[in-house]
Amino acid sequence: MKSINSINGIPLHYARLINHPYGSKGEQRNFLVDEAFLITLEKALQEVFEHCPLGVPEIITTAGIFVNKPGQHSHGKAFDLDAVFWEEETLITMNFVHQKELYLGIESFLRKHFGIVLNYHYPNHKDHWHIDTSVPVDYNESSKSETLYVQLVLKHIYKEEILVDGIWGRQTAGTVKEVFNKLGINTPISTKVNYIKFLDITGKIAFKLCEEKRTPIHLLNNLTEVIEDLPQQNRIAAREALNSFLDHNETELWLGNFSDKYDLDTVISTVLNL
Ligand SMILES: [Zn+2]
Repeated sequence: MKSINSINGIPLHYARLINHPYGSKGEQRNFLVDEAFLITLEKALQEVFEHCPLGVPEIITTAGIFVNKPGQHSHGKAFDLDAVFWEEETLITMNFVHQKELYLGIESFLRKHFGIVLNYHYPNHKDHWHIDTSVPVDYNESSKSETLYVQLVLKHIYKEEILVDGIWGRQTAGTVKEVFNKLGINTPISTKVNYIKFLDITGKIAFKLCEEKRTPIHLLNNLTEVIEDLPQQNRIAAREALNSFLDHNETELWLGNFSDKYDLDTVISTVLNL
């Protein structure tokens, strides 16, 4: 094992402390990591930030690599990614609900390198991605974490009506076929080359959407989703405060200046023709 405090020159921080709580930039630390796993991690992050419109970040916070708990962490062969800090933007994994495009863009590229990626919808993983290489990169219909990913991108990136439950059924199979068709990717998804192509194209589309969708109307929709996700006692007051803001004449006038229309088909054909 090797001790590192940065990856590809990006400082690695720890933010699970009283003085540096989750969501903060934390403090730089040394982490023990398996050397072969580190090579995969470097390649994966290189690809993620090459495509990410925000570029190379200033800090990555991790909950740990070598951790004294069962599984791949005990060999320094797993990484828990908490948050990414760029100069003017932050992705905290717990904020999935209002950063879906950026989150799913990053995850799509991570999946090209790691057979295991556990995300926000996987039990106990709301506040970090767990990634490891204990299984090969491919698509397995019986994998809950992989099916959750596919359903999440079908719903939030490709705007398909679909239930996100991690179970591969007729609805998911049918929608995958339809979207793969539109993207010009062969089925089945369980053939590795098809799956990788889907990850790559989806990552690029998600990143493109994350650039194009930053209109005030989209940000307001995000805020509404965050409010609907709150515990009930907080939700009612927050929803009423938002509604009285939205119902105001001048707000309506101002919002009338913006449109939230983006054409998914145009974004898709732009990415396919790159
Ligand atoms: Zn983990």
